[in-house]
Amino acid sequence: MKAVMYHYVRPDSGGMPGFRYLHLDNFRRQLDHFAETLGFVSQKAFLDAVENGEENLDGAVLTFDDGLRDHADFAIPELISRGLWGIFYVPTGMYQSGKLLDVHRIHVLLGTAKASDVLDYLKKNISGEHLSHAHVPEYRTLTYAHLSEAQSVTEIKRILNYFISYDHRETVLDGLLAEFVPSSRCDIANYYMTPAEIRSAQASGMIIGNHSVTHPVFSKIAADTQRRELEQSFAFLEDVTGGLKTRTFAYPYGGFHSFNETSEQILGDLGCKFSFNVEPRDILQSDILGRPQALPRYDCNQFAFGAVTIG
Ligand SMILES: [Zn+2]
Repeated sequence: MKAVMYHYVRPDSGGMPGFRYLHLDNFRRQLDHFAETLGFVSQKAFLDAVENGEENLDGAVLTFDDGLRDHADFAIPELISRGLWGIFYVPTGMYQSGKLLDVHRIHVLLGTAKASDVLDYLKKNISGEHLSHAHVPEYRTLTYAHLSEAQSVTEIKRILNYFISYDHRETVLDGLLAEFVPSSRCDIANYYMTPAEIRSAQASGMIIGNHSVTHPVFSKIAADTQRRELEQSFAFLEDVTGGLKTRTFAYPYGGFHSFNETSEQILGDLGCKFSFNVEPRDILQSDILGRPQALPRYDCNQFAFGAVTIG
């Protein structure tokens, strides 16, 4: 069985020249391709398999991260029209703060501003005390002089997602967005599904999963903070949906560096049945039985028609 991960799925960039997304036409082509080649696992068979480890299944399982507006507007209607289902991993912090999550402020920033301008701003405004300790030497030795636009984007993501300490990231991002991004781009109503849409997604046959409160790198935060991120988001989603169908989680960012043994243990304690990592290989029965809180998942760009569209 192959789990496939999607993020933005939309028909255009919404006026952001550097924005990276899967074009809706390619999403449709990819679903046609899966229907012809792999087939899809039914929700019942999937839940039986992941909750009870009963059998090895073939076929695709579709997952969508970040609770995006795109999912309510484009992905879910497309799935419903084809009689398909998906798992939607929704973070919850934006519903409490009224602000875009930092991960998405970075996407909007990179979609709107020139990467070289952002790097210049970071060089001027970040000093040693803004960095998480382990990464200070690495940051100091970085040079940006000969980077292409694409390499600059990668560096900005590394600095903002990994190097900078969480205490300072919010302030630095506030400054960057004020400088480069029109405030209308940061309206949460234009960016995420509403709580009512989350509830109706579940009512129309989708599974709603947990994607934390603030979308942190779990391996960077202490055990009690990890637990709080998971408990609060499960409570919010239980409330919004009137009761989740199952407890499932997807690690923000994904990859083995993005979580640790503590994360898996807490998830098990909280009654989470299965969690997704990002690791490009099939899910085997041995994964479900042996390590249910780190199931492998492919990015959609690893299959035909999944390549990103920019701007
Ligand atoms: Zn995410």
